[in-house]
Amino acid sequence: MRIILSGGAGFIGSHLADFLTQHQHQVVSIDNLLTGEEENISHLASLEEFEFRHQDIICPLEIEGPVDAVLHFASPASPKDYVKFPIETLSAGSVGTRNLLELAKEKKAVFFLASSSEVYGDPQVHPQIESYWGNVNPIGVRSVYDEAKRFAEALTMAYHRRFGLDTRIARIFNTYGPRMRLEDGRVLPSFMTAALKGEPLTVFGDGSQTRSFCYVLDMVDGIYRLLLSQENEPVNLGNPDEVSIIDFAKEIKALTNSKSEIVFEELPADDPKTRRPDITRAKEVLGWKPEVSRGEGLGFTLPYFKEKLGL
Ligand code: UDP
Repeated sequence: MRIILSGGAGFIGSHLADFLTQHQHQVVSIDNLLTGEEENISHLASLEEFEFRHQDIICPLEIEGPVDAVLHFASPASPKDYVKFPIETLSAGSVGTRNLLELAKEKKAVFFLASSSEVYGDPQVHPQIESYWGNVNPIGVRSVYDEAKRFAEALTMAYHRRFGLDTRIARIFNTYGPRMRLEDGRVLPSFMTAALKGEPLTVFGDGSQTRSFCYVLDMVDGIYRLLLSQENEPVNLGNPDEVSIIDFAKEIKALTNSKSEIVFEELPADDPKTRRPDITRAKEVLGWKPEVSRGEGLGFTLPYFKEKLGL
């Protein structure tokens, strides 16, 4: 396949580019490098299968030649980033999605949307199943991301229904692994960096809120299976192994043999209290489930953080 991949220099996007080129697909990676990093894809630069374009999807895309699939992974994705770049986040999910849908329509290509568990907001149904409509504050600080993803899903389904476009929607839950930016504010890079530097790990709230973390290569496998499937309805992708944030802090301390103390700060507004994917649909439709346990995945991720910190 010849694949257009927006957000191709980001965390998940760059791992996906690795996987796709390893499977002999041609990848045109598009990224404005707002939160993506060229370093994530520098090892692909010499490959014949790979091309990078430093470009913003907010502007209409002109792509020559045939295209088989358009994968939309471009957006600031950590709460810290999307609060810092609220308009860019809304634009990536709205105008950016529209431009990529138009490209897919023009090329008669499959369109794949990287959506998010954030469409469920602070969920009142647990674990989250695809049929749940969510609980989102439409004007809260997280709304720039949540509503952009919800709009992107609505627009994707509209193109599917109105034009018969062949579409996929992945609802991606918390994902971790090498290439997360150390300062991106998400819990794993923050805890890992603090623990390795011997600085305090800052838990927001009392740490009783939960998340369920999926190793990035499991996620990429799920994404690829969904791409190859015929499934037009949203599919949750994530690891259902749920942990409280306070226990997660203790796990990272133990993994890094750190003597850092754990300190507490106020919980940010609208921070979801629980999150765990129901992956029944992914199991049934894609034959997919995560294979890497949190212990293993954190072990694979630790050397990356050590190297970045020069340890
Ligand atoms: N969190 C924390 N300390 C940090 C960063 C995050 O306690 O330094 C908490 C945050 O309040 C949330 C959870 O960890 O409850 C996951 O946050 P993250 O920003 O990684 O992603 P989210 O799942 O909220 O999008």
